[in-house]
Amino acid sequence: MSVRFVIDSLDFVRNAGIQHGRIPLLELARLHDLLFDKEGEVTYQIRGYFDKNNKPSLHLEIKGEIHLSCQRCLDKLIHVIDLQNDLILAQNEVELNQNDAEDGIDAILASNDLDVMNLIEEEIILGLAISSRHPEGECIVHQKDLTSSSMDESQSAHPFAILSSLKKH
Ligand SMILES: [Zn+2]
Repeated sequence: MSVRFVIDSLDFVRNAGIQHGRIPLLELARLHDLLFDKEGEVTYQIRGYFDKNNKPSLHLEIKGEIHLSCQRCLDKLIHVIDLQNDLILAQNEVELNQNDAEDGIDAILASNDLDVMNLIEEEIILGLAISSRHPEGECIVHQKDLTSSSMDESQSAHPFAILSSLKKH
């Protein structure tokens, strides 16, 4: 089984910590319900720093390719993850709510056992909030429509082609 990756968030910031790695999608259990299959992995980087207001913050980058189900044809939909987010580490609930209200910068509660995998899972799920479906023309449902209508055309064109060839003779 996987080893959970836990940091003391404020310590991580004070030490200007930086960590990166790969997580197989198999290990991101909370994502599984949303996935078409569990192939692939995501890469991440997490960095601790003080923002311009001297607030302890985490910068998180997540990249990878996951397979969702298209909500129209239910077939595999390749989704590219390319997330970057900054999270302020709030010292308490009051500060947490303040940050959220102020400038829309995400805040989380500082913790001495912050589960980074959990955080990454959450960020990916939040990033998927919009409905997932193939673009027009790439959906299987759509393609089926196209093929059947073009088949109709070729079938209806066929008798005329015979007629015109008969006329020539
Ligand atoms: Zn589709």
